[in-house]
Amino acid sequence: MPNRPYIVGNWKMNGTRAQLTEARAIDRGATRHAGVRVAIAPPFTLIAAMAAEVQALTVGGQDCHGEVSGAFTGDVSAVMLKDAGAGFVIVGHSERRAMHGESDAMVRAKAEAALDAGLEVIVCVGESEAERDAGQAEAVVGAQLDASLPRGEGLVPRLTVAYEPVWAIGTGRVAAPADVAAMHAVLRAKLVAIYGEDGAAVKILYGGSVNAGNAAELLAVADVGGALVGGASLTADSFLSIVAAA
Ligand code: PGA
Repeated sequence: MPNRPYIVGNWKMNGTRAQLTEARAIDRGATRHAGVRVAIAPPFTLIAAMAAEVQALTVGGQDCHGEVSGAFTGDVSAVMLKDAGAGFVIVGHSERRAMHGESDAMVRAKAEAALDAGLEVIVCVGESEAERDAGQAEAVVGAQLDASLPRGEGLVPRLTVAYEPVWAIGTGRVAAPADVAAMHAVLRAKLVAIYGEDGAAVKILYGGSVNAGNAAELLAVADVGGALVGGASLTADSFLSIVAAA
């Protein structure tokens, strides 16, 4: 079912082994929603344990290094994620870009390393509030996507894009449906320009303060293929409400 909505939980730096109880509950819920693809990116420390326990969920990483191995203290490579049981990795999240100085070129290298390792990849882009206020959102995000996307043959089936306005992440503020539709159209055009016809099939997720109350409206916006969910993915109750809305 390649066209299922894709709902991805990003647990960020939250969760110890006790939190696997929620993952098991989310997994059980996901089996009741076979029409939706459900995934969680827990902290690195939980990937192997979660991947070993779940059936319906795809487990992924929140970041990877652009190299396969080497003297990079504290970093984790895409090959290691795959070895731990991950099926995908998120790259270019705005928190990584802002707090770890990740450039578009670094994000692209990470995405290419992930694909080389056999993972799927979710490439995140999004504008700041100042950029939106200046009327630059579409230009900025379009350029960010262009410079962050991996290049190469045959990668498109394993690629997902997430549009996450920085000002909407963790703030309770959500982009207006019309703005989401306009941005997704810009991103779609860019994907087709880069990958040709194949670019039409890449899923574009919306992220930023998605919750049980607003998910249905956001997921109904033209060309929104799913959601990347932070805070509301941490409990089975709220995350499964979003899955049910998809
Ligand atoms: P949020 O985070 O849902 O808590 O706003 C989304 C994200 O950062 O992916």
